[in-house]
Amino acid sequence: MICTRSIAPENSTHFWPNMPEPTPDTRHPTPISNNPIYRNHVRWMQQAIDLAEAAGLAGEVPVGAVIVCGDELIAEGENRRERDCDPTAHAEIVALRSAGAALHSWHLESCTMYVTLEPCPMCAGAIVAARLGAIVYGADDPKTGSIRTVANIPASACSNHCPIVWAGILEATCRDQLQQWFSQRRRGDAIAH
Ligand SMILES: [Zn+2]
Repeated sequence: MICTRSIAPENSTHFWPNMPEPTPDTRHPTPISNNPIYRNHVRWMQQAIDLAEAAGLAGEVPVGAVIVCGDELIAEGENRRERDCDPTAHAEIVALRSAGAALHSWHLESCTMYVTLEPCPMCAGAIVAARLGAIVYGADDPKTGSIRTVANIPASACSNHCPIVWAGILEATCRDQLQQWFSQRRRGDAIAH
């Protein structure tokens, strides 16, 4: 079962790759960048990117997440694993906990999560457990991505919930942010030694 969806169903690999814009055919009468759904996704993803930036400056792998209910921001999360000495303190988990507290409920069917990196197995499991309505992420994670790249936990036999998935929102920005952080850290390590 494939549970990813797209405005452009003919492209099930990357839904909103960072341009080039689609050819002017009947499926996309307006440029993709003017599509109001796309613009809304970009708006929230940019906030997740800002959170990721803050995490990176604090010495964490830069991953950020926000959770939106309707058009309202209800929770934010950034990776806090190093600062909290907590292996579960990924941005998604931090945001899910905050959203549950904000709504006084663990049921998050009405919510959408925006996260800069494809969730890992732990976070994908938590997203299923929260019955999250939709997830929008930026960059695929070829190592632990568990929404579709390495595994598809929401669509697997162990899942009882399958959120709507949008992938590739500001993908290049999210990927560059991670790559630059890792390359800077490698340079720092090289100087230190
Ligand atoms: Zn995770």
